[in-house]
Amino acid sequence: MGTFVKISIVSILVAYLAFKWTAPRFDPESLKGARVLVTGASTGIGEQMAYHYARFGAQIVITARREKVLQQVTEKCLSLGAQKALYIAADMASESDPDKVVDFALEKLGGLDYLVLNHIGPTPFAMWEGDMEHTRWLMKVNFFSYIQMAWRALPSLEQSKGSLVVVSSLLAKMTNPFTLPYSSTKFALNGFFGSLHHELAMKKSNVSISICTLGLIDTESAMDKVRGVTKIPAYPATEAALNIIIAGATRQLDLYYPWFTQVVPIMKELFPWATNYVIQNYSYNYNP
Ligand code: NDP
Repeated sequence: MGTFVKISIVSILVAYLAFKWTAPRFDPESLKGARVLVTGASTGIGEQMAYHYARFGAQIVITARREKVLQQVTEKCLSLGAQKALYIAADMASESDPDKVVDFALEKLGGLDYLVLNHIGPTPFAMWEGDMEHTRWLMKVNFFSYIQMAWRALPSLEQSKGSLVVVSSLLAKMTNPFTLPYSSTKFALNGFFGSLHHELAMKKSNVSISICTLGLIDTESAMDKVRGVTKIPAYPATEAALNIIIAGATRQLDLYYPWFTQVVPIMKELFPWATNYVIQNYSYNYNP
Protein backbone atom coordinates (compact mmCIF):
# COMPACT_ATOMS: atom_id res chain seq x y z
CA MET A 1 0.00 0.00 0.00
CA GLY A 2 1.40 3.39 -0.99
CA THR A 3 2.29 6.06 1.61
CA PHE A 4 -0.37 8.41 0.24
CA VAL A 5 -3.11 5.77 0.67
CA LYS A 6 -1.92 4.95 4.21
CA ILE A 7 -1.90 8.63 5.21
CA SER A 8 -5.37 9.11 3.67
CA ILE A 9 -6.85 6.13 5.57
CA VAL A 10 -5.31 7.24 8.89
CA SER A 11 -6.51 10.85 8.32
CA ILE A 12 -10.07 9.69 7.60
CA LEU A 13 -10.04 7.50 10.74
CA VAL A 14 -8.70 10.33 12.91
CA ALA A 15 -11.27 12.78 11.51
CA TYR A 16 -14.07 10.24 12.11
CA LEU A 17 -12.96 9.61 15.72
CA ALA A 18 -12.60 13.35 16.38
CA PHE A 19 -16.09 13.91 14.97
CA LYS A 20 -17.55 11.15 17.21
CA TRP A 21 -15.60 12.39 20.25
CA THR A 22 -16.79 15.98 19.94
CA ALA A 23 -20.42 15.08 19.08
CA PRO A 24 -22.87 16.38 21.70
CA ARG A 25 -23.72 13.86 24.45
CA PHE A 26 -27.36 13.03 25.13
CA ASP A 27 -28.63 14.54 28.38
CA PRO A 28 -31.97 12.91 29.36
CA GLU A 29 -32.67 15.90 31.66
CA SER A 30 -32.91 18.10 28.55
CA LEU A 31 -36.20 16.39 27.70
CA LYS A 32 -37.85 17.05 31.07
CA GLY A 33 -40.78 19.35 30.30
CA ALA A 34 -39.87 19.45 26.57
CA ARG A 35 -42.92 20.16 24.37
CA VAL A 36 -43.17 17.38 21.78
CA LEU A 37 -45.55 16.52 18.95
CA VAL A 38 -45.21 12.94 17.62
CA THR A 39 -47.19 11.83 14.55
CA GLY A 40 -48.19 8.24 13.80
CA ALA A 41 -48.02 7.49 17.52
CA SER A 42 -50.95 5.09 17.91
CA THR A 43 -48.70 2.13 17.14
CA GLY A 44 -45.22 1.01 16.07
CA ILE A 45 -42.17 3.24 16.40
CA GLY A 46 -44.28 6.35 17.07
CA GLU A 47 -45.98 4.68 20.03
CA GLN A 48 -42.57 3.63 21.41
CA MET A 49 -41.28 7.19 20.99
CA ALA A 50 -44.26 8.48 22.97
CA TYR A 51 -43.39 6.11 25.85
CA HIS A 52 -39.70 7.12 25.84
CA TYR A 53 -40.57 10.83 25.85
CA ALA A 54 -43.02 10.10 28.70
CA ARG A 55 -40.28 8.40 30.77
CA PHE A 56 -38.06 11.45 30.20
CA GLY A 57 -40.85 13.64 31.64
CA ALA A 58 -41.78 15.45 28.42
CA GLN A 59 -45.08 17.14 27.56
CA ILE A 60 -46.49 15.24 24.61
CA VAL A 61 -49.15 15.58 21.96
CA ILE A 62 -49.67 12.49 19.84
CA THR A 63 -51.70 12.02 16.69
CA ALA A 64 -52.92 9.33 14.26
CA ARG A 65 -56.39 8.40 12.98
CA ARG A 66 -57.68 5.95 15.64
CA GLU A 67 -58.96 7.93 18.59
CA LYS A 68 -59.51 5.00 20.94
CA VAL A 69 -55.95 3.73 20.53
CA LEU A 70 -54.53 7.23 20.96
CA GLN A 71 -56.44 7.54 24.21
CA GLN A 72 -54.88 4.32 25.52
CA VAL A 73 -51.38 5.47 24.51
CA THR A 74 -51.80 8.84 26.28
CA GLU A 75 -53.02 7.07 29.44
CA LYS A 76 -49.91 4.89 29.41
CA CYS A 77 -47.71 7.97 28.78
CA LEU A 78 -49.14 9.64 31.89
CA SER A 79 -48.53 6.51 33.98
CA LEU A 80 -44.90 6.45 32.72
CA GLY A 81 -44.21 10.02 33.87
CA ALA A 82 -45.20 12.40 31.07
CA GLN A 83 -45.83 15.92 32.44
CA LYS A 84 -48.69 16.19 29.94
CA ALA A 85 -50.08 13.73 27.37
CA LEU A 86 -52.78 14.77 24.94
CA TYR A 87 -54.03 13.37 21.65
CA ILE A 88 -55.77 14.59 18.56
CA ALA A 89 -57.23 12.27 15.93
CA ALA A 90 -56.41 13.38 12.39
CA ASP A 91 -56.11 12.04 8.86
CA MET A 92 -52.91 13.19 7.17
CA ALA A 93 -54.46 12.66 3.73
CA SER A 94 -56.72 15.62 4.46
CA GLU A 95 -55.59 19.09 3.38
CA SER A 96 -56.56 20.78 6.63
CA ASP A 97 -55.68 18.20 9.32
CA PRO A 98 -51.87 18.70 9.26
CA ASP A 99 -52.32 22.40 10.19
CA LYS A 100 -55.05 21.54 12.68
CA VAL A 101 -52.74 19.14 14.52
CA VAL A 102 -49.86 21.63 14.76
CA ASP A 103 -52.21 24.38 15.95
CA PHE A 104 -53.64 22.05 18.61
CA ALA A 105 -50.16 21.23 19.92
CA LEU A 106 -49.08 24.89 19.91
CA GLU A 107 -52.18 25.89 21.82
CA LYS A 108 -52.14 23.05 24.38
CA LEU A 109 -48.37 23.10 25.02
CA GLY A 110 -47.78 26.83 24.52
CA GLY A 111 -45.21 26.18 21.75
CA LEU A 112 -43.09 23.30 20.47
CA ASP A 113 -39.53 22.11 21.09
CA TYR A 114 -39.73 18.96 18.95
CA LEU A 115 -41.83 18.08 15.93
CA VAL A 116 -41.35 14.37 15.20
CA LEU A 117 -42.78 13.42 11.80
CA ASN A 118 -43.19 9.66 11.72
CA HIS A 119 -46.60 8.57 10.33
CA ILE A 120 -47.05 6.56 7.13
CA GLY A 121 -50.15 5.39 5.32
CA PRO A 122 -50.61 1.66 4.77
CA THR A 123 -49.27 0.50 1.40
CA PRO A 124 -49.07 -2.92 -0.29
CA PHE A 125 -45.79 -4.84 -0.29
CA ALA A 126 -46.11 -6.01 -3.88
CA MET A 127 -45.09 -5.47 -7.49
CA TRP A 128 -46.14 -2.08 -8.93
CA GLU A 129 -49.35 -2.56 -10.94
CA GLY A 130 -49.90 1.06 -11.98
CA ASP A 131 -52.13 2.15 -9.08
CA MET A 132 -51.90 5.92 -9.52
CA GLU A 133 -54.69 6.72 -7.09
CA HIS A 134 -52.93 4.96 -4.23
CA THR A 135 -49.60 6.58 -5.11
CA ARG A 136 -51.15 10.08 -5.10
CA TRP A 137 -52.85 9.35 -1.78
CA LEU A 138 -49.63 8.02 -0.27
CA MET A 139 -47.75 11.14 -1.41
CA LYS A 140 -50.29 13.22 0.50
CA VAL A 141 -49.97 11.18 3.69
CA ASN A 142 -46.23 10.43 3.68
CA PHE A 143 -44.87 13.59 2.07
CA PHE A 144 -47.17 16.63 1.65
CA SER A 145 -48.46 16.46 5.23
CA TYR A 146 -44.84 16.38 6.50
CA ILE A 147 -43.84 19.57 4.74
CA GLN A 148 -47.12 21.28 5.64
CA MET A 149 -46.67 20.50 9.34
CA ALA A 150 -42.99 21.48 9.30
CA TRP A 151 -43.81 24.86 7.74
CA ARG A 152 -46.62 25.52 10.23
CA ALA A 153 -44.41 24.64 13.22
CA LEU A 154 -41.24 26.45 12.08
CA PRO A 155 -41.94 29.86 13.71
CA SER A 156 -42.48 28.20 17.09
CA LEU A 157 -39.45 25.92 16.68
CA GLU A 158 -37.42 28.99 15.77
CA GLN A 159 -38.41 30.66 19.04
CA SER A 160 -37.57 27.60 21.13
CA LYS A 161 -34.33 26.70 19.26
CA GLY A 162 -36.22 23.52 18.52
CA SER A 163 -35.82 20.43 16.36
CA LEU A 164 -37.56 18.88 13.42
CA VAL A 165 -37.19 15.10 13.30
CA VAL A 166 -38.07 13.24 10.10
CA VAL A 167 -38.37 9.47 10.20
CA SER A 168 -37.15 8.09 6.90
CA SER A 169 -35.84 4.80 5.59
CA LEU A 170 -33.01 2.97 3.90
CA LEU A 171 -35.51 2.85 1.03
CA ALA A 172 -34.98 6.62 0.67
CA LYS A 173 -31.33 5.95 -0.15
CA MET A 174 -31.47 2.88 -2.38
CA THR A 175 -34.14 1.32 -4.53
CA ASN A 176 -35.70 -2.08 -3.88
CA PRO A 177 -38.62 -4.02 -5.38
CA PHE A 178 -42.19 -4.21 -3.93
CA THR A 179 -42.28 -0.75 -2.30
CA LEU A 180 -42.29 1.68 -5.24
CA PRO A 181 -44.86 4.24 -3.96
CA TYR A 182 -43.50 4.08 -0.38
CA SER A 183 -39.90 4.41 -1.49
CA SER A 184 -40.83 7.39 -3.71
CA THR A 185 -42.40 9.23 -0.77
CA LYS A 186 -39.28 8.63 1.33
CA PHE A 187 -36.91 9.81 -1.45
CA ALA A 188 -39.07 12.95 -1.67
CA LEU A 189 -38.77 13.50 2.10
CA ASN A 190 -34.99 13.17 2.05
CA GLY A 191 -34.75 15.55 -0.89
CA PHE A 192 -37.00 18.15 0.70
CA PHE A 193 -35.66 18.10 4.25
CA GLY A 194 -32.02 17.73 3.15
CA SER A 195 -32.50 20.89 1.04
CA LEU A 196 -34.40 22.68 3.81
CA HIS A 197 -31.46 21.98 6.12
CA HIS A 198 -29.22 24.04 3.78
CA GLU A 199 -31.70 26.90 3.61
CA LEU A 200 -32.13 27.05 7.39
CA ALA A 201 -28.36 27.00 7.90
CA MET A 202 -27.91 29.79 5.32
CA LYS A 203 -30.60 31.85 7.10
CA LYS A 204 -28.78 31.23 10.42
CA SER A 205 -31.91 29.55 11.73
CA ASN A 206 -32.12 28.12 15.26
CA VAL A 207 -33.93 25.00 14.10
CA SER A 208 -32.13 21.67 13.66
CA ILE A 209 -33.26 18.94 11.28
CA SER A 210 -32.62 15.26 11.91
CA ILE A 211 -33.24 12.80 9.08
CA CYS A 212 -33.47 9.25 10.41
CA THR A 213 -32.56 6.38 8.12
CA LEU A 214 -34.00 3.13 9.45
CA GLY A 215 -33.55 -0.46 8.31
CA LEU A 216 -36.21 -3.10 8.86
CA ILE A 217 -37.85 -2.58 12.28
CA ASP A 218 -40.00 -5.20 13.99
CA THR A 219 -43.29 -3.26 14.09
CA GLU A 220 -46.45 -5.28 13.54
CA SER A 221 -47.28 -3.56 10.25
CA ALA A 222 -43.79 -4.14 8.81
CA MET A 223 -43.55 -7.74 10.01
CA ASP A 224 -47.00 -8.63 8.63
CA LYS A 225 -45.75 -7.57 5.19
CA VAL A 226 -42.32 -9.16 5.05
CA ARG A 227 -42.78 -12.37 7.05
CA GLY A 228 -41.66 -15.28 4.86
CA VAL A 229 -40.73 -12.91 2.01
CA THR A 230 -37.34 -11.61 3.10
CA LYS A 231 -34.35 -12.76 5.12
CA ILE A 232 -33.34 -9.18 6.03
CA PRO A 233 -33.01 -8.97 9.87
CA ALA A 234 -35.51 -6.80 11.80
CA TYR A 235 -34.42 -4.56 14.70
CA PRO A 236 -36.44 -3.63 17.83
CA ALA A 237 -38.89 -0.74 17.55
CA THR A 238 -38.20 0.47 21.08
CA GLU A 239 -34.47 0.81 20.36
CA ALA A 240 -35.13 2.51 17.01
CA ALA A 241 -37.46 4.94 18.83
CA LEU A 242 -34.84 5.80 21.45
CA ASN A 243 -32.18 6.38 18.79
CA ILE A 244 -34.51 8.75 16.92
CA ILE A 245 -35.18 10.72 20.11
CA ILE A 246 -31.46 10.98 20.87
CA ALA A 247 -30.73 12.15 17.30
CA GLY A 248 -33.28 14.95 17.75
CA ALA A 249 -32.11 15.90 21.25
CA THR A 250 -28.46 16.08 20.17
CA ARG A 251 -29.38 17.89 16.94
CA GLN A 252 -27.65 15.33 14.68
CA LEU A 253 -28.41 15.86 10.99
CA ASP A 254 -28.36 12.13 10.22
CA LEU A 255 -29.21 9.01 12.16
CA TYR A 256 -28.52 5.56 10.75
CA TYR A 257 -30.19 2.71 12.63
CA PRO A 258 -29.01 -0.02 12.57
CA TRP A 259 -25.45 1.09 11.73
CA PHE A 260 -25.22 -0.81 8.44
CA THR A 261 -27.90 1.42 6.86
CA GLN A 262 -25.04 3.91 6.40
CA VAL A 263 -22.78 1.36 4.74
CA VAL A 264 -25.21 -0.37 2.38
CA PRO A 265 -25.92 2.69 0.15
CA ILE A 266 -22.15 3.25 -0.14
CA MET A 267 -21.70 -0.36 -1.27
CA LYS A 268 -24.48 0.20 -3.81
CA GLU A 269 -22.61 3.22 -5.22
CA LEU A 270 -19.28 1.36 -5.32
CA PHE A 271 -20.58 -1.98 -6.61
CA PRO A 272 -23.97 -1.33 -8.27
CA TRP A 273 -24.07 -4.50 -10.34
CA ALA A 274 -23.27 -6.82 -7.40
CA THR A 275 -25.68 -5.04 -5.04
CA ASN A 276 -28.51 -5.19 -7.57
CA TYR A 277 -27.81 -8.87 -8.17
CA VAL A 278 -28.11 -9.62 -4.44
CA ILE A 279 -31.32 -7.55 -4.13
CA GLN A 280 -32.97 -9.21 -7.11
CA ASN A 281 -31.87 -12.78 -6.43
CA TYR A 282 -31.23 -13.26 -2.69
CA SER A 283 -33.01 -10.63 -0.61
CA TYR A 284 -36.60 -11.71 -1.32
CA ASN A 285 -38.44 -14.98 -1.94
CA TYR A 286 -40.18 -14.34 -5.26
CA ASN A 287 -41.32 -16.85 -7.86
CA PRO A 288 -42.89 -15.32 -10.98
P1 NDP B 1 -46.79 1.74 11.63
O1 NDP B 1 -47.51 1.26 10.40
O2 NDP B 1 -46.64 0.82 12.78
O3 NDP B 1 -47.51 3.06 12.16
C1 NDP B 1 -47.96 4.03 11.28
C2 NDP B 1 -48.64 5.12 12.09
O4 NDP B 1 -49.18 6.09 11.18
C3 NDP B 1 -49.78 4.61 12.94
O5 NDP B 1 -49.82 5.31 14.15
C4 NDP B 1 -51.01 4.95 12.09
O6 NDP B 1 -52.11 5.09 12.96
C5 NDP B 1 -50.57 6.26 11.45
N1 NDP B 1 -51.28 6.56 10.20
C6 NDP B 1 -51.53 5.73 9.16
N2 NDP B 1 -52.23 6.35 8.21
C7 NDP B 1 -52.44 7.61 8.66
C8 NDP B 1 -53.14 8.73 8.15
N3 NDP B 1 -53.75 8.70 6.95
N4 NDP B 1 -53.19 9.86 8.89
C9 NDP B 1 -52.59 9.92 10.10
N5 NDP B 1 -51.90 8.90 10.64
C10 NDP B 1 -51.84 7.75 9.92
O7 NDP B 1 -45.38 2.29 11.12
P2 NDP B 1 -43.91 1.99 11.71
O8 NDP B 1 -43.91 2.26 13.16
O9 NDP B 1 -43.45 0.68 11.22
O10 NDP B 1 -43.06 3.10 10.97
C11 NDP B 1 -42.87 4.38 11.55
C12 NDP B 1 -41.90 5.16 10.70
O11 NDP B 1 -40.68 4.44 10.56
C13 NDP B 1 -42.41 5.44 9.28
O12 NDP B 1 -42.06 6.73 8.87
C14 NDP B 1 -41.67 4.41 8.45
O13 NDP B 1 -41.50 4.79 7.11
C15 NDP B 1 -40.35 4.34 9.19
N6 NDP B 1 -39.65 3.10 8.91
C16 NDP B 1 -40.16 1.92 9.40
C17 NDP B 1 -39.53 0.73 9.10
C18 NDP B 1 -40.05 -0.58 9.60
O14 NDP B 1 -39.51 -1.62 9.18
N7 NDP B 1 -41.04 -0.61 10.49
C19 NDP B 1 -38.32 0.69 8.24
C20 NDP B 1 -37.87 1.99 7.81
C21 NDP B 1 -38.52 3.14 8.14
P3 NDP B 1 -53.65 5.01 12.54
O15 NDP B 1 -53.84 3.75 11.78
O16 NDP B 1 -54.34 5.03 13.87
O17 NDP B 1 -53.92 6.25 11.74
